[in-house]
Amino acid sequence: MSLPVPFNKSSPQGEEFNYIQQAISNGQVAGDQTFSKKCQRLLEDTLGVQKALISSSCTHALEMAAILLNIHPNDEVIIPAFTFVSTANAFVLHGAHPVFCDIKPDTLNLDESKLESLITNQTRAIVVVHYAGVGCEMDKILEIANRYEIAVVEDNAHGLFGKYRGRWLGTFGCLATQSFHETKNITCGEGGALLINAKRFIERAEIIREKGTNRTRFFRGQVDKYSWVDVGSSYVMSDILAAFLYGQLEKWQEIQKKRKNIWKRYNEELSDWSEQNGVKQPVVPEHCDQPYHMYYLLMPSVECRSKFIARLKDKGVMAVFHYLPLNSSNFALQMTVKGWQKCLCPVTEDVSKRIVRLPFYADLGEDDQNRVIDSIKNLT
Ligand SMILES: *Cc1c(COP(=O)(O)O)cnc(C)c1O
Repeated sequence: MSLPVPFNKSSPQGEEFNYIQQAISNGQVAGDQTFSKKCQRLLEDTLGVQKALISSSCTHALEMAAILLNIHPNDEVIIPAFTFVSTANAFVLHGAHPVFCDIKPDTLNLDESKLESLITNQTRAIVVVHYAGVGCEMDKILEIANRYEIAVVEDNAHGLFGKYRGRWLGTFGCLATQSFHETKNITCGEGGALLINAKRFIERAEIIREKGTNRTRFFRGQVDKYSWVDVGSSYVMSDILAAFLYGQLEKWQEIQKKRKNIWKRYNEELSDWSEQNGVKQPVVPEHCDQPYHMYYLLMPSVECRSKFIARLKDKGVMAVFHYLPLNSSNFALQMTVKGWQKCLCPVTEDVSKRIVRLPFYADLGEDDQNRVIDSIKNLT
């Protein structure tokens, strides 16, 4: 029998290894050197953000956002209940209370109609996640946030090079974060970036990222020695990884094109089957250009999903599910006892039981994708 079709596989585009060799032979292996700068410039020029700082992870970029927004104990931060833990933890680390907002049953994005009722005098930030790279309703979200003067941060881990009403995702919030983890569209194994849209954050972000020192200004020749000037941590990415990352970033359009073809094929090939089996396919509104981050299906029930995953596994096809609701996680419940507000998120609870993600990576070949599709169509 042929090898299983994995859920995800690193898909190098060709130059990654060359660039890593160049970084090493140039003796540039710490952070903020040639390849880091190339990555940052590419992100800044393509997206038109004021500043892009690549970082050790998206989690760390979110932590930088929490520091930049001066998040203090008992501040409240509104986040979707259906997301990765880092969206919450980066703020909880600084003592904030996460207030979980339910998601919409169509796009699985934060439900903007529920947002206003969650805002209190303590609300310091709204963190949105463009789930699967499909933009949240930013018009409405920004209107509410501006009215209450609350900062918006985009956890754009899924949405790099996606657009909402013609505008790049990652350019709506005062800050946005990217992930270059192995499971994301553009990757270097482990990595991330902080995108800065509000200029006032740039100087402090450089300091926080460099262990609370003004080392970046020192390297630019703006100060004659560098010293401890603020809180901070080690959020810089090694140039060895930045070299890998640049090999991917410069090919972002090719990667996107491959992913688009895979996504469209799943969507077309599984459309009749989905209808016949009470399965829902992803909803992508007209005004959202998605970067094709994942292909998911919503099964009719949790039992159907378990069977689906198990039977596909028997056929050598690795489908997975993700995001247990954060609002009902052990940690959140424990904290609720200590006074966190308990949040009910019925749509998140429901979706989290029924969602399943199909194998999806840039180099998923046609034969392997056929195997996934045929296996699904032939399930009994
Ligand atoms: C992957 C992911 C993260 C974390 O990214 P890391 O780079 O692994 O820290 C955060 N938020 C969301 C929505 C993600 O999908």
